[in-house]
Amino acid sequence: MADHPEGVEKEAAAEAPKVPEPAGAAAAGAGAAVPQEAAAEAPKPVVVPRLKVREFPDPVLREKAVPVTVFDDALKTLVADMIQTMYAEEGVGLAAPQVGVSIRLAVLDTSAGEERGKSPFVIINPEILSREGELPWTEGCLSLPGIEVETQRSRKITVRSLDIDGHEVTIEAEGLASVAIQHEIDHLEGVLLFDHLSALKKRLAIRNYSRERKAERLAAREEE
Ligand SMILES: [Zn+2]
Repeated sequence: MADHPEGVEKEAAAEAPKVPEPAGAAAAGAGAAVPQEAAAEAPKPVVVPRLKVREFPDPVLREKAVPVTVFDDALKTLVADMIQTMYAEEGVGLAAPQVGVSIRLAVLDTSAGEERGKSPFVIINPEILSREGELPWTEGCLSLPGIEVETQRSRKITVRSLDIDGHEVTIEAEGLASVAIQHEIDHLEGVLLFDHLSALKKRLAIRNYSRERKAERLAAREEE
């Protein structure tokens, strides 16, 4: 899975309230009811996503995102908020269109266990220069909750990208990192996991997805 790795532990987010906080809310997990000082001292703060992750059929997910041209503080804030949201939602990657910003940028962290959280990275205006081999994978997506799709990705890719300051970098990725980067670049093209299915399977998958979402909405309304 790309956005949603199975290897990642569920600890923090399992109990995280799914209420997005405005950008600039105190770091990692000052929940609405928790005083900020107390949250800072808590051994394991609950991580609340800072940004709302858009879900299919939100039209922004189908747009072709535009290149990033300005590398200013607003961009850095967006990246920081996206990284925090990616961890809160237990994703291995999050593309800007998934938080409603249609620009060619994504954040990733494909490491697991102890290493998770230590080295998130950003790709900006990424371009795949070369591909090697094939890699079948089962992917999920934060924008398609409950959906898993079997994909065929390139096993190894070389990507030209920009970093947060606009400097060119070359990234070589293999395995999960390769799959995740290809998944995020799909988002920048308005491509979703459904699009990797045959026409018939895609229709069925979208129908099932829509039915489940509708059932969830009705259940939520009844609880109110
Ligand atoms: Zn996704």
